[in-house]
Amino acid sequence: MLLELNNVYERYFNFHPQLVRLAEESEKQVYPIWEEIDQISQFNQIKVLRAFQKYRISDYHFSGSTGYGYGDVGREGLEEVYADVFGTEKALVRLQISSGTHAISLCLYGILRPGDELLSLTGDPYDTLEEVLGTRGGGYGNLKEWGITYKKVELGPEDKIDMPSVIKAITPKTRMVLLQRSRGYTWRPSIAVEEIAKVVVEVKRVNPNIVFFVDNCYGEFSQIIEPTEVGVDLMAGSLIKNPGGGIAPTGGYVVGKEKYVKMAAARLTAPGIGEKVGATLGLNRLLYQGFYLAPHVVAQSLKGAIFTAQFFKNLGFEVSPEPKEKRVDIIQAIKTNTPEGLVAFCQGLQKFSPVDSHVSPQPAEQPGYGDRIIMAAGAFIQGASIELSADGPLREPYIAYLQGGLTKEQVKIGVIGAAQNMLNEGLITL
Ligand SMILES: *Cc1c(COP(=O)(O)O)cnc(C)c1O
Repeated sequence: MLLELNNVYERYFNFHPQLVRLAEESEKQVYPIWEEIDQISQFNQIKVLRAFQKYRISDYHFSGSTGYGYGDVGREGLEEVYADVFGTEKALVRLQISSGTHAISLCLYGILRPGDELLSLTGDPYDTLEEVLGTRGGGYGNLKEWGITYKKVELGPEDKIDMPSVIKAITPKTRMVLLQRSRGYTWRPSIAVEEIAKVVVEVKRVNPNIVFFVDNCYGEFSQIIEPTEVGVDLMAGSLIKNPGGGIAPTGGYVVGKEKYVKMAAARLTAPGIGEKVGATLGLNRLLYQGFYLAPHVVAQSLKGAIFTAQFFKNLGFEVSPEPKEKRVDIIQAIKTNTPEGLVAFCQGLQKFSPVDSHVSPQPAEQPGYGDRIIMAAGAFIQGASIELSADGPLREPYIAYLQGGLTKEQVKIGVIGAAQNMLNEGLITL
């Protein structure tokens, strides 16, 4: 059976037999870790299912509204389901939130006022937030322009949050702290919810009124608890990442304490109108279905990431996280070492995608990013990185960040394809 499958890989995709053999061995090595992932997704599926039942989700929730979208029961039901799963008082789940950056911005602008200070606990945040903060470029109306200052504390020893420095950095001006759970475009490990729990306690001990905010992009359902279940006040993410389950066509979410979510909603629409408007245009079913599938899809992505780590490690590359390391987000970083390696990896992955397999991604400027970026994304939904995708900024040491995958089978094919492309260009030796 296996032998036949190997022949199919060779016949249809022209994969080198030795590469296929190595992939099969790598997969066997990670089976025990995959089992742990199954347990996490089983638990999270129960959590989501219970919320659907509690709020009696029915067919009528799936139809949508137009115009202002007043009293859209589908939208309201979905927000109750999200709030329940994330253990929060309130949720804002909207198609009108265009991206993760937008969702995070709503939280920053919703809470911060002139004279306030924002303190990042995990070094500089994700690239696209630099123009929001005003630390790079001149995004109109950035926080700096509004007289909101920004400070950061780098991660300390073993890439843990450097609590002594955080406590020193907090001043009476500190209104909000920002913690980015996922690594973003850095080699650092992502922050586990268990660690977030400890940090919340210590920050609140200094000043209980500080708003503790978490950028949860790529973290949802990778563990059995979410940051908002351990005292985080406000949290945001994207629906074309984990919680959209690969089905949500666009959107973002904000969850947290009622007051803070309302402050973010006032920024999304207008003060006084807040969360009460927002037409859903007949798309509610997709957001429900995506959220329902999300625990399973995240597990597929995690299994794919674990396989990738083992396979590329076996090929002699440095990877982070290591195959057996505990995972708290869906990102897998692979050090390709050269610009050619990064480009060949991404182009190879794209070649074996279901959509746009015939086009070849090139490094280019992207709105919101400083360095040139190469992005491979043969996705059904534009830019959806819960679907198999790989990207990276063209800067040393040329790290490919791989994430997503609706099925682990697709991840395996795409990643062998990436390696095959590197092999074709003499960037791998077998
Ligand atoms: C993707 C991401 C963002 C930004 O989301 P976009 O949807 O790309 O705007 C912010 N923070 C982290 C950690 C992310 O992974």
